[in-house]
Amino acid sequence: MNPARADQIGPLDMFKIGVGPSSSHTVGPMIAALQFRESIKKLFDEKKIAVAKAKESRLRFVVELYGSLSATGKGHSTDAACCAGLFGLHPRTSKPEEIWAAMPELNQKKSIKIDEHIIQFFPEKDIHWLHWQFQEKPLPHPNTMRFRLYLDEEVLAEEVYLSVGGGFVDSYDGDDSPGKTKESQTPFKVVPYPFNSASEFVNQCNQNKIKPWELVIENEKAKGMDEATLRYRLKTILDVFSECIENGLKHEGILPGGLEVKRRAKKLNEQMLSGSMPAWAGGDLRPSVYAIAVNEENAAGGRVVTAPTNGSSGLIPAVWRTLQETHKLSTETLENGLMVASVVGALVKTHASISGAEVGCQGEVGTSCAMAAAGAAAMLGGTPEQIEQAAEIGIEHHLGMTCDPIKGLVQVPCIERNAMGAVKALNAVWLSLACDGSHLISLDRVLQVMKQTGLDMHQKYKETSTGGLAIG
Ligand code: SF4
Repeated sequence: MNPARADQIGPLDMFKIGVGPSSSHTVGPMIAALQFRESIKKLFDEKKIAVAKAKESRLRFVVELYGSLSATGKGHSTDAACCAGLFGLHPRTSKPEEIWAAMPELNQKKSIKIDEHIIQFFPEKDIHWLHWQFQEKPLPHPNTMRFRLYLDEEVLAEEVYLSVGGGFVDSYDGDDSPGKTKESQTPFKVVPYPFNSASEFVNQCNQNKIKPWELVIENEKAKGMDEATLRYRLKTILDVFSECIENGLKHEGILPGGLEVKRRAKKLNEQMLSGSMPAWAGGDLRPSVYAIAVNEENAAGGRVVTAPTNGSSGLIPAVWRTLQETHKLSTETLENGLMVASVVGALVKTHASISGAEVGCQGEVGTSCAMAAAGAAAMLGGTPEQIEQAAEIGIEHHLGMTCDPIKGLVQVPCIERNAMGAVKALNAVWLSLACDGSHLISLDRVLQVMKQTGLDMHQKYKETSTGGLAIG
């Protein structure tokens, strides 16, 4: 279900503003529900659904959630996200409080209005939590969902969507052969510096004597995005990073969901600033504190950025904020770092996966660590080879990491995992910048291994909450 080329995925595809707690189980389903609503609205507008003849009270929506969406969807608020999307809310532009108000309102009203049409929808009854088969076949993706519009028992319209990680959504037309999703059928944009592997990216930079982020800017220009717009939107992403850290550092209390996990970022930050940390807590504690702040906001359903997913949303903001403070980096440099980080995310998405339901947490926190390491190496003046090495180190030491969130909540182990990943990312930068960039294992090789490890990983360790820490 992956796009066939990494150079087709840009920074604004990888970094998307949304809400917590999950990009694949919250943001993706919300976008899919919104797309379904838009398709129904179009049918109404084109008068392809003859509602004048049908009694509108006989129209109703049904949502079917399969596989991992069903196994952990309650903990990830997938039902609430679907309600918000059907309600017409977008994860980027709607306020979190509006989004979370949609399901209670629907449970009360039991209907949705689209223009003048009333469609029955009672989330408690009309959202179905289903299994690992779709139309008597294995699921096309662990995160499969189907939306239907009924008139009595007749299906008037239906769409199947796959939430493939990081808030990316594919439409599925029933054809399982490779290259058949709507996303992959989108025509390629011709770019001046094509690449589809890490080695090609490094070669393009070196042969054309172009900085890695300049390569990204030129490719995005060819896709229709001028540099000023790209930078403006990346600055917005940086602003959300900061807002999220600040919110996380001031909020206290217990995270929602029933695990009774206490927020820690505020207290940790106070201890760090006052110098009251125990003497053995050496090193720079900022990456851990900032990552925990963001991931607590994510767990509470707050505004976050996929980096590349919501579960791994704290790691990159933590590394960027730490380096901004320690190295006084300019906004432009921080934007450049995001561009380089996005290249690594695009390579992983193309050749392995950024979905915990597909390959485990190596695809989420592992990818985020590699993206952070590459972006940070670029911001600190690394060569293309050193940037590639930093990314490789970042992934290599997350290979095989499972996804086993307790109760399906993006809290344990996810929150601390971002703190550990942020520390590893900075260590990867140091290791790569301290050497000349020559190394034994390439990033391209690590991605092959990551993909195969994900395929070999038992399903119970891939965001089903049926193995590992999630049980017992
Ligand atoms: S364990 Fe990792 S992959 Fe799984 S939900 Fe948590 S952050 Fe995401």
